[in-house]
Amino acid sequence: MWHLLSLVIGLVLGSFLNVVIYRLPRKNLSISRPSYSICPSCGERILWHDNIPVISYILLRGRCRKCKAKISPRYPFVELANGFCYLINSYVALNSLEFIALCLLISCSLIIAFIDLEFMLIPDVTLFLVALASFMVWLVRGFGLYNLLGVAMVTALMIVLGLLYRGGLGSGDIILMAALSLSLGVISSFYTLILASVSAIVYALIKNKGKLLMKQKIPFGTFLAPAGYVFLLIQRYIPM
Ligand SMILES: [Zn+2]
Repeated sequence: MWHLLSLVIGLVLGSFLNVVIYRLPRKNLSISRPSYSICPSCGERILWHDNIPVISYILLRGRCRKCKAKISPRYPFVELANGFCYLINSYVALNSLEFIALCLLISCSLIIAFIDLEFMLIPDVTLFLVALASFMVWLVRGFGLYNLLGVAMVTALMIVLGLLYRGGLGSGDIILMAALSLSLGVISSFYTLILASVSAIVYALIKNKGKLLMKQKIPFGTFLAPAGYVFLLIQRYIPM
């Protein structure tokens, strides 16, 4: 029952994440107003029965009821991903504080992933919430002092990489990785960096049809945040 409830909460909050992903980087829009959802194409209010996570998207065949404009598949994807991860968190978390922290982390990671992908920026509020979630996980998992050394090492490495590869790593990426490394510790932080780098390179290769351009800007936060979440989940099960 608890697991099913986690899935449903994740799906419903996933719908809210879509609102945040759309409105947060657009300076002329507010997260709270209007309080209802609107179609990005025609501006028409979306009624509650057309706004049920995933189900409405399928019933409406991915189109707005009013103007028939296509709705991005990002909407059901974010809802499903958030719901599925909340379900996993309900199995992995040792207590309710860790569950809340892991849920906060994956929700922020989804926001960061899609905003960075589109706008090449990581909003400050999401960095703050990732730091808070990471701090909570660090507390629950025995606040190892060794992890503080990890934060220092990872941050120093990221600054050096940022200097070597100018324009490739923004200050947002460095702060994001520093925040994650508190709960990840030294080893998992390096695994996270490797997974994020490989994913980013694969993404760049696909986008440029097989060519890797040094000057190309890559939204590193898109890969860093979810990679950090993955290693926080599996940390207990991998040999250190
Ligand atoms: Zn519409």
